[in-house]
Amino acid sequence: MSKQSGRTKIDIADVLNLPLETKSQEEAKEKKLSSFTEGRLKVYDSNINNVDIFLKLLSERVNRQLASSMVGCVHCGMCAESCHYVLARPDDPTMTPAYKADKIRRIFKRHMDWTGRIFPWWVHADIPRDDEDLNRLKNIVFGTCSACRRCTMNCPMGVDTALLIRLARGILTELGIVPEGVFNVSRDTWETGNQMAVSEEDYLETLDWMKEELQEELEIPEIDIPVDKKYCDFMYTINPREIKFDPRSIADAAKIFHFAGERWTMPSWGWDQTNFGLFSGDDRLGGFVAKNLYEAAVNLRARRIVISECGHGYRSSRWEGYNWAEYDQNIPSESVVLTLMRYIQEGRIKVDPSKNQEPVTFHDSCNVARSGDLVDEPRWILERTCSDFREMSPNRKENFCCTGGSGLLSMAEYKPLRMEVAELKAEQLKATGAKLVCTICHNCVDGLTDVIKHYELDMKVVQIIELVANALVIDP
Ligand code: SF4
Ligand code: SF4
Repeated sequence: MSKQSGRTKIDIADVLNLPLETKSQEEAKEKKLSSFTEGRLKVYDSNINNVDIFLKLLSERVNRQLASSMVGCVHCGMCAESCHYVLARPDDPTMTPAYKADKIRRIFKRHMDWTGRIFPWWVHADIPRDDEDLNRLKNIVFGTCSACRRCTMNCPMGVDTALLIRLARGILTELGIVPEGVFNVSRDTWETGNQMAVSEEDYLETLDWMKEELQEELEIPEIDIPVDKKYCDFMYTINPREIKFDPRSIADAAKIFHFAGERWTMPSWGWDQTNFGLFSGDDRLGGFVAKNLYEAAVNLRARRIVISECGHGYRSSRWEGYNWAEYDQNIPSESVVLTLMRYIQEGRIKVDPSKNQEPVTFHDSCNVARSGDLVDEPRWILERTCSDFREMSPNRKENFCCTGGSGLLSMAEYKPLRMEVAELKAEQLKATGAKLVCTICHNCVDGLTDVIKHYELDMKVVQIIELVANALVIDP
């Protein structure tokens, strides 16, 4: 570690040399988990030629879109200042998007591009020599990039570094060369259908509990959180974090839906709209989760799927999941933000901004804003439900990541580096003077909470559903 600008700086070699932990993988083998024995959950095997498999999978997976990002970089450096890792560690060349992508590009050039095959020294082409090299690549693609796509937005050549990162992550996942947290969440998803291993019993009990709380609080015995009700206007899908840590967000949604006079339901299976496959690069896992959700809507004859506040869940369920699952999904889906906006526009619910007095700012989540273009709608709602809404700078598609994107929250070993680069986010939050930071992503709630705690900011994270529920005007 070294000291720079008053703060302790991490020695990046410590991050790049973090070893591969396989304790959880050994346990999965010993317990003969069905996902492992059926070959869905991949574990590390030191007795096979992992480099050869890596190269084979690379050849199979590079499509036209990926190839253009492999060959399109002219090393102009314009993306560097987009990356929060670079801005926080300006003297560290290993933080630049081009450096990270080049680690993958080099392999592509040596293995698949004729220039790299004939003149490897000329085009800096190279392949990993052994599992140590693959492990170092693991630490780069999982530990030094939150796949926020801010560099993608600012590349004149249209190079999508985050896409290359996801490609490498996906291949390493096939080899079991992954951070332990990534393995654990993948295991839980394969085994239980949701990424936090919530049992069906816990899920249904929590919904019941929230329903009873609402009935008591509002003194409305008929208020309901319906499960598996057919022919509804929409099926509501959530983040497992809402069951485990924040069930109040489900109660808030139910309260709003009730006063809007909505016909809605939640499914007993296929309710997890999050998708760790987006983060780990595992398309099979992504397809499994997305298909569960799509099929649940078909079985319930729902007219629409509404996705609760979650950035990567929105992206995965709304468009990426169709391809991973190879599923002809034709039930429309939308973020709950649009549902809430429609309720207010149509006068189905009334809101009073004076009920949310504290100054509030808005954090645009990477997957929702940069990848999903949902930027004006949350602001439209905040302007009508809060009396002091103020923008942070930069914002919208240029906003900085909460630092916990792309599954980094599950990878404890990279947290020191994440917290170091989070200084930029902390300054951005602090400059608003707001007491509340609203985000429409459960992942960002945890990412921002870590930043607030670490930098001791006088702020709290909230979500839009909470602010709308709070601003609701309930006629006697
Ligand atoms: S990724 Fe784009 S912006 Fe970055 S160095 Fe390459 S060409 Fe330039
Ligand atoms: S995707 Fe985000 S974190 Fe990754 S290199 Fe680009 S700007 Fe940096």
